[in-house]
Amino acid sequence: MLNRLLRPPGAVPEKAFLHRCIQCGQCVQVCPFDCITMRTGWFHSGTPEIDPRVSPCKLCMRCSAICPSDALEDVPIEKSRMGTAKLNKDECHTWMGFILCRSCFERCPLKGKAILLDKGIYPVITDQCVGCGICEYVCPKKAIVTIPARFLET
Ligand code: SF4
Ligand code: SF4
Ligand code: SF4
Repeated sequence: MLNRLLRPPGAVPEKAFLHRCIQCGQCVQVCPFDCITMRTGWFHSGTPEIDPRVSPCKLCMRCSAICPSDALEDVPIEKSRMGTAKLNKDECHTWMGFILCRSCFERCPLKGKAILLDKGIYPVITDQCVGCGICEYVCPKKAIVTIPARFLET
C-alpha cells in the first residue's frame, strides 16, 4: 500500500529532503502536539512523517524553525507545502445534501483561503491548501484525503 503520510511543514522536495535530513529527531521533540513520528521499517526508516488521521499538523512552524539541516525550511505557513487535500463530494455530508456540516471549513487554519464555502454552504478546497491534514482529521465522513507533496512533484 502507498505510504500516504506527510512530511513536516517546510520540507524541501522529497529527493533533497532524503539527502538533507540527518534523522536527528529534533522536529519530533519540538512538536508540542506530538504530530511527528520517525518512520520505521526498511524504507527511509528514521525520517519524520505525520499521519493526518492520528495527529495532523497544527502549523505552529516550530519544527521548520529548528531543523538544523534545512531539510525543513523556515518558511511562512502559506509556503509550508506539505501536500494538498482532496474532498470527495460523493462522501461529504453537505454535498450529499444530508446535513449542513462545516467541520473542515471551521477548523482549517487557512479558512477562507484554503477552503471556501460555495454558495455559503458547500466546502471547496483551493490551490492555497498547504496539506496540514486537519480537515481530513475532523471530517466525520472521512470524505477528505491529504495527498503528500512528494506525489505532486513533477
Ligand atoms: S529536525 Fe530536520 S534533520 Fe532532524 S529529523 Fe527533523 S527533518 Fe530531519
Ligand atoms: S508545525 Fe508545529 S504542529 Fe506541525 S509538525 Fe511542526 S511542530 Fe508539530
Ligand atoms: S484545506 Fe485542509 S489540509 Fe488544506 S490547509 Fe485547510 S485544513 Fe489544512
